[in-house]
Amino acid sequence: MAKIKEKTLKKLKRKSFWPSIILFFTFMVMSCTIIFAGINLFATYLIGSKLTILYDQAMDTGIMLERSVQVGDKITSAVTNAAHFRRNPSEVYVTDGEGNLVMSTSDSEPLFDKSFEWTQGGRCKIYKDSAWDYGEEALDDIESIFDFHVPDLADRAFERAPRGKGETMRSRWLQEPIVKQQFWMYIPVSLNGKKLYVKCTLEILRQDVIYIMVLGGIALVLLMIPLIFLFINTILNIRMQHRVTKLLYMDPVTGGHNWMYFQAYAAKVLGNGWNSRKTYAMVDLHMERYTNYLSCYGSKQGEELLECMDGFLRARMKRKEVFGHYGSADFGLIFRCEGSNEEECQDNCYRRLRSLLAELAGLQPERKLHFHAGVCMIPSVSSATGNWYNQRKNIDIDQLFSFANTAQSTSHNESEQIFFFNERMLEEQSWEQWVENHMQAALAAGEFQVYLQPKYTPTDRRLVGAEALVRWVCPEKGMIPPSRFIPLFEENGFIMKLDDYMLSQIAKLQAEWKVQGKKTVPISVNISRAHFTQEGLAEHISQLVDGYGPKHKLIELEVTESAFFDDKNVLIDTVKQLRAYGFPVSMDDFGAGYSSLNSLKDIPLDVLKLDSEFFRGDDETGRGAIIVREAICLARELNVRVVAEGIEQREQVDFLAALGCDMIQGYYFARPMPVKEFEARMAADA
Ligand code: C2E
Ligand code: CA
Ligand code: CA
Repeated sequence: MAKIKEKTLKKLKRKSFWPSIILFFTFMVMSCTIIFAGINLFATYLIGSKLTILYDQAMDTGIMLERSVQVGDKITSAVTNAAHFRRNPSEVYVTDGEGNLVMSTSDSEPLFDKSFEWTQGGRCKIYKDSAWDYGEEALDDIESIFDFHVPDLADRAFERAPRGKGETMRSRWLQEPIVKQQFWMYIPVSLNGKKLYVKCTLEILRQDVIYIMVLGGIALVLLMIPLIFLFINTILNIRMQHRVTKLLYMDPVTGGHNWMYFQAYAAKVLGNGWNSRKTYAMVDLHMERYTNYLSCYGSKQGEELLECMDGFLRARMKRKEVFGHYGSADFGLIFRCEGSNEEECQDNCYRRLRSLLAELAGLQPERKLHFHAGVCMIPSVSSATGNWYNQRKNIDIDQLFSFANTAQSTSHNESEQIFFFNERMLEEQSWEQWVENHMQAALAAGEFQVYLQPKYTPTDRRLVGAEALVRWVCPEKGMIPPSRFIPLFEENGFIMKLDDYMLSQIAKLQAEWKVQGKKTVPISVNISRAHFTQEGLAEHISQLVDGYGPKHKLIELEVTESAFFDDKNVLIDTVKQLRAYGFPVSMDDFGAGYSSLNSLKDIPLDVLKLDSEFFRGDDETGRGAIIVREAICLARELNVRVVAEGIEQREQVDFLAALGCDMIQGYYFARPMPVKEFEARMAADA
């Protein structure tokens, strides 16, 4: 699903966003080029045609002079004959073949070393004028002849011809030159070997500029229409894509960021070159028993809780940190960890997470919520490689999260809330996977076998009972101890099936012993706390046992008290019901974990099993012995029998016998054994 969404997003980006922007900018550049080139072309054409006119006029002057010289006039007198020049340029400069001045009617002269050929509309040589101010830097650049310096020109007073007949104010205004440029043209006429240069004035009139502006304006308007259309289209595309992206990145439950967003942005943050010098942590934040919450308060409340969590986390995230909702009640978080070394970074991350989890637990004042987190540290690249300039490469967000998730799932109801990933956890995870894959088939194949550990009286050492303990005898892996699979079964719920199986095996055994006329003793069966979420547990157990028909009093049920019972009343009620059905009930592991003296007061018990921890290690201070003595006293007063577990030494047996302990279960007497072995022992004991 996420893959499909990612593909769609990429397609959208490619299709709608960039082509529009590229098209818009291409069109804009093209429009500007067209307008600029058009104006340039038109201006060149305008100046060209003006130069052609000037050339024609100068040529007229030249022809007139040529004619005058042909009819015998002297050049000097021909030139000064003002009548010839009424309409044509009158300032001329005549040199001999070597370029020496013969005569001039001008104050200035052509600069012979600053010339260029003008070829448009005819061939002609143009020279700069010695009197004209072209500006220092432009002196060597002959083409600067057409760099009209408006401010300079503005200083010069233009000669204004008197207004002609029929000339309106407007047309006169339009005809006014706004820039002027003077230069010399060489005119190729024959003047007895002399060379003729005519001074011309190029004028750009106000109307010329207006033409250019109008043309430019029209072009601009024509090009602006599609440009505006493209602009609007691009904006709409960007907005549409923005909306689609938002939709794709929005989590439907929390309304915040979804997993796809997290994957994309976490990779961005971690892959960034600068961020690579920082230590980060990938966190899997998990709410425990969310499904229980849903069944208690409904899915709407459940979704509201997740939404609330999303808002809470958003407020706690810092710059360059990301978080997103993973399935069900998990959130992925990327924390930036401060610290001078990796250890300090991890400590800081731990502290921050601890206070975050504490705050989350109080998110709903009326209910206590439970959270835990798995963390996979992502060291800074410099500390991993020693090179500060390296970047994090090939970041696999899914794998980092799966490591954090592995750490998180190792919790198995422990009191610790934060778990840091290490390689050993991967082995544990693959073991869990193996167990999960094989448990059903193993149950069907009878690989779960009943072992019985006898319980003895400490004084006369009679076999008076047993506890049923499961062993997984796997053809592939050999004998697997319960500690390797019971916690996993408690997590995945398979413990219900296994306990039922054990219970029915014991019921069957008791029934068989009775039929065979053998001696029977009560056998206790462990009932995992997971059963207490099941309604009608006592009835269910009773039906199961009745399927084989043994007496209820021969089947004792071992239960444990635990912090995980939010509602202790459920435990009390079930124990009462079980006893009402005639099953003896024992409190297992008393003195360990969460068991409390209160349970003695509240839960109507038949047997109290003192945890083996009381008898482990040295009891130099004698405090353990005092507690055991008092617990036995208390139980006796409450009319509850006591079983001491994990007894391995003779002194312990004697000590317990002196205190009046009812039964002893431990390696001193016997280890858990197969049924056949137990039967033989019972027969011998009888
Ligand atoms: P538990 O119910 O407290 O069982 C007693 C454990 O103590 C057994 O471990 C037993 O072999 C061990 N033990 C007995 N005497 C001694 C001793 O003198 N020294 C030492 N060191 N250990 C002793 P086991 O069989 O490995 O079972 C471990 C736990 O697994 C059990 O603790 C119980 O909580 C659980 N378990 C075993 N079978 C089942 C079952 O069928 N259903 C459920 N729900 N839990 C089971
Ligand atoms: Ca037990
Ligand atoms: Ca126990």
